[in-house]
Amino acid sequence: MTTQYQGACICKSIQVTLQGEPVKSIACHCIDCQKSAGGPFQTCAIYDTKNVKVEDCSNTLKKYIFPKETVGSGHEKHKFFCGACGTHLYNQPMKHNGEKTVIKTAFIDSADGPG
Ligand SMILES: [Zn+2]
Ligand SMILES: [Zn+2]
Repeated sequence: MTTQYQGACICKSIQVTLQGEPVKSIACHCIDCQKSAGGPFQTCAIYDTKNVKVEDCSNTLKKYIFPKETVGSGHEKHKFFCGACGTHLYNQPMKHNGEKTVIKTAFIDSADGPG
């Protein structure tokens, strides 16, 4: 059976299930991550979007789009968060047409989550 990781936002209205191990784990020091984390860096796990299942039972999932002018790659970045509790869940860089999802590992509930 494939390993699964589960995470939820603070108010638990959004549940995320990750299938298998991440493509890559990174500690990102970019300005967006610093602002999102409120610290010097944020740890992220990169997954193929097809392996990320999002359940948004109360319809609180919100999206903020970083305009491409402000993103280093020159492509839009879509940032997803819970509109009810404000938890930042994941990003989808449009550099990869949304096929890659960058998960904030801090919200994964299992003790030895990815990364
Ligand atoms: Zn929430
Ligand atoms: Zn970053």
